[in-house]
Amino acid sequence: MSVRKLEDYAEISLFCPECRKNITLKVSYEHRDRAERFPFEYLYVHGEGGNKHAITLYLDKDMQVRGTELMRNIETDESDIQETKMFPIKKGKVSPMARSLGMISQKEFEILEMCNGKSSVYAISQEKNISLVEINKIVQKLKDKSFLEINIEE
Ligand SMILES: [Zn+2]
Repeated sequence: MSVRKLEDYAEISLFCPECRKNITLKVSYEHRDRAERFPFEYLYVHGEGGNKHAITLYLDKDMQVRGTELMRNIETDESDIQETKMFPIKKGKVSPMARSLGMISQKEFEILEMCNGKSSVYAISQEKNISLVEINKIVQKLKDKSFLEINIEE
């Protein structure tokens, strides 16, 4: 376990017994500043598809980890998540030129390839194991560059 205190967040690396590997979390200082008592808890839910699990960290004022707890058997209510209703669709083909000119990164390209109108933004984030914050940024950027459009289904 290691804690690196950066400007806006602490980068905490620890071993997840369920993933059987080290994971790195970025814990914003905002959580600490909002805490009403110490240690405060921070829950990180991750894992693919049917193996969703969570690690709870108990952090003190100095962002040091005082305890951890693994939680399995997690079910989340996804019906209210906007990203489950957003279906991005790729427009046309991306020319090799656009890629070589750096208009689109490899990661963006891979995500764009998954935008078939049948996978929601949420499903893509799960499949690629990236956060909703990041996937939204990428999808919005690709939309701004007219690589895709987004259908909203209510
Ligand atoms: Zn894990």
